Amino acid sequence: MSSDTLVSYPAGSTSSRGTVLATVALEQGLGVVLDRTAFHPVDAGWPDQPADRGTLAGHPVLDAVVGATDGGEIFVGRDIPVRKGTEGWSFVVVHVLAADAPVNVGDDVDVTVDEGYRNGLSAGHTACHLASLALDAALADAWTKEIGGDALGNPDFESNACQSSRIHEHGSVDVYRVGKSLRKKGFDVAALDDLDGVAARANAHLAEWVASDAGIRIDRDGEGLGDRRNWVCELPGGDAVIPCGGTHLTSLGDLGPVTVAFERAEVEGGVEITMHTTAA
Ligand SMILES: [Zn+2]
Repeated sequence: MSSDTLVSYPAGSTSSRGTVLATVALEQGLGVVLDRTAFHPVDAGWPDQPADRGTLAGHPVLDAVVGATDGGEIFVGRDIPVRKGTEGWSFVVVHVLAADAPVNVGDDVDVTVDEGYRNGLSAGHTACHLASLALDAALADAWTKEIGGDALGNPDFESNACQSSRIHEHGSVDVYRVGKSLRKKGFDVAALDDLDGVAARANAHLAEWVASDAGIRIDRDGEGLGDRRNWVCELPGGDAVIPCGGTHLTSLGDLGPVTVAFERAEVEGGVEITMHTTAA
């Protein structure tokens, strides 16, 4: 049985009450681990969605990071030596408070998340997933060989080319790189010569999807931080399912218009494009 922190943010929760299980002195301050929390932490392994903002027992939370422990030391961020799901390890949310915050093991504490900031990040994350699907659809004709499909069955440019994804309030920035290996897989790099055309096609898909008011939910294997979670968007053509650890809106109807714009850079051995996604 896992003793991961039980997390309620995937279900949209922005407040919780929990018991302090451990505290740890970190460089950044006092790390506090609870049995359960509504606070979304940043995951150093794939830091797409930033940590929530808010308070713990009334004290400002300066940061929230994914940590891991085998029952001894608590490792945080990039110092975690194992992957999620490793036998004998628990994955925990580490809330970072000021070093002198008067919080002790055994305390029952309230966690309160800044709802406006969370909502902006949820909108940004939902728009980010939708934009990645729209980009795949816009580039579907650029492939000369069979390649695995994305959540809608289009050739998966996103997974093969994505270098980084950063979500902010009401938007995201995704960087894609096309080099030798992608060309070998059958991607015609000339498809990126007309990025205005790519943007126009992607934006047409986005407008259609947003107008569908499709419902969104998070399916998960359990309530633990390390349990597998999927974003499910009930698009008219069928459910789109993408593995995801973040937070989301519950309907595309809650998003304003979503649009993408591109920048292009020549890099060693290929082309890098940056997709800026904006949700009004
Ligand atoms: Zn995601």
